Formats: sequence, C-alpha cells, structure tokens
Amino acid sequence: MDCKEANKKMSDFLNDELSGRELKNFLGHISCCKDCKEELSIQFLVQEGMARLEDGKTFDLKSELDRQLADVERKMVFYQWLHYLVYGVEILAIITIAAIIVMVLVT
Ligand SMILES: [Zn+2]
Repeated sequence: MDCKEANKKMSDFLNDELSGRELKNFLGHISCCKDCKEELSIQFLVQEGMARLEDGKTFDLKSELDRQLADVERKMVFYQWLHYLVYGVEILAIITIAAIIVMVLVT
C-alpha cells in the first residue's frame, strides 16, 4: 500500500469500515510511514474533536434548555405569587383606605 492509497483509506479506517487484508495493509503502511501516521492522527483528532463538540453541544443545549425551562417555571410560580401578593396588598390598601374614610366620616 502506498501513501495515496493509505490516505484514501483513512476515513474508512476512522469509520471502522476497514477489515481483514485492507486493515492489515493499512496498519502496515501507517506503522512504517511517518507522514501517513501524522495525517491519520490529525484526521482522527478532527473527527473525534468534531464528534465531541457535537455531543457536548447537544448535551449542553439540552441541559441548558432544561435549566431554562425550570427557571421559567420557577419564575412563573414566583410571578403568580407576586401577582396574588400585589392583589392582596391592593385589596388590603383599599380596605384600609375605606376604613379610614369610614372612621373619618363617623367621627
Ligand atoms: Zn504513507
């Protein structure tokens, strides 16, 4: 196997698509050809790196989404309580004002 052939087989090798004689020839060339070994390690790093990056992104995106959803839910509950609280305070204020007016009118 020469360098040109080895280069063509690299992606097959990285995708686990080489077998038997092909794999043996490929590994035979890689083990004694510095250039191809270097090229293979670069391709491996790129492929692995991309895969990790994609996995990482998906994972982060999912947890990010979950976190955001949980946040929104917490906020919704908080705002709902705040809403009730504001309502309560308003009603209380109206009752207080009404009571004061009544007291002022009565006295
Ligand atoms: Zn080579």
